[in-house]
Amino acid sequence: MYATTLRCVFCGTEYPLTHRGSCTLCARPGEESALHETLGVQYDLSALKLRLDRDEMTRRPAGLWRYRELLPVVDPAFCIDLGAGGTRLVPLIRIAEAAAGNKLLMKVEGSNPSGSFKDRPIGVAASVALEQGARGLACLTSGNIGSAMAAAAAKAGVPALVLLLSAAGLADQGTAVNVEKYVQISAYGARVVTPIGNLGYLYSLADRVETELGWSFLHNVQAYQTDGDKTTAFEICEQLGWQAPAAVFVPTGTGTNLFGLWQGFVLFKELGFIDRLPRMFAVQPLGAASLVVALEAHQTVPAILEHIEPNLAPPISHLVSGYHAYKAILESGGGAVAVTDGDMLEAMKDLAAYEGIYTETASAAALAGIRRALTLSLLDPEETNRAGIVGILTSHGLKNSLALTSVFSPPPKIAGTWDALSRIAFF
Ligand SMILES: [Zn+2]
Repeated sequence: MYATTLRCVFCGTEYPLTHRGSCTLCARPGEESALHETLGVQYDLSALKLRLDRDEMTRRPAGLWRYRELLPVVDPAFCIDLGAGGTRLVPLIRIAEAAAGNKLLMKVEGSNPSGSFKDRPIGVAASVALEQGARGLACLTSGNIGSAMAAAAAKAGVPALVLLLSAAGLADQGTAVNVEKYVQISAYGARVVTPIGNLGYLYSLADRVETELGWSFLHNVQAYQTDGDKTTAFEICEQLGWQAPAAVFVPTGTGTNLFGLWQGFVLFKELGFIDRLPRMFAVQPLGAASLVVALEAHQTVPAILEHIEPNLAPPISHLVSGYHAYKAILESGGGAVAVTDGDMLEAMKDLAAYEGIYTETASAAALAGIRRALTLSLLDPEETNRAGIVGILTSHGLKNSLALTSVFSPPPKIAGTWDALSRIAFF
């Protein structure tokens, strides 16, 4: 294995690969803070440069484990393989901004096995946890992590516990849980409960689950989750003919995906597989945009928001995003944009109606964010047209169809006759 240590991107402290939780110098237990998310996995670059053959790698089957040397699992027997990864990078054609000449491509992560990009980070983190001796898997989630973890546990044959937050995610635990998500998680055989309590207390349960049961609470191996997210960047570079795009737009809650993508691009550049890095952009709901606030105020570390405005994108509604994502944005020369419910819905409907891609509302934030950036002239037109802009469509639309019943009316009932049908303007 080529993984060597975990490293804090804020203070530089290194930890052994068996370290649990956040950086002990930066994070305070029980307190929500951007500095809870700072750890990344380091690799032996010299050894990788000597032994990793890019062309040999591309002859392997598509998916997560195609990049096994760049992932932190020692024994292949522990690699949980549900077929995650290998998703399409689709050029937009009919959407107005694409038709106007912008080179826009979407990474369609909703086609992963459990319906979201989370199959990548959880596939890797769960594999590492089991290799390190965990007897079961547990997590705290607003849905997609729970589905991915429950599927991975089913495949590996270990028990799973999912603490499922309400449909409003971390914003409001008083509302109902998302039906599509608890049904899917339950179908995989996981035990699902909806806990009441503040987030700091709920995370303290993680340690009890680990010590009492000998299980792994996946929040405590978050560095391995971001490491799985790297594979999205690897695939994008391959799909663009060993080039990075000019910019990448990522719907961003905790920021693990954005940081993971950035790590992937950086690693490929350090290995000499690509010759330039993209600019990283976070897209967040208006009223839940801690990275936008932090960038505008030139904060050293993103501050925690006082509250979150209710919105249609619970997976990306957090009081604060991780410092690791903030640093990736700053290092890449990127940015962060805030979008409204209306922006996300319009993007969601346009992706479906013009390109045949059905995404969760939070995922459509990727296109909504690109549109916002174009409006604000944040993107260099020359760069946009040449190297292209990639949006990460993180999950499938079937993940939250019920939440949109107020947007899409039920179909009208008509008589089953040609006379009645011909009066409907459907062509
Ligand atoms: Zn630190």
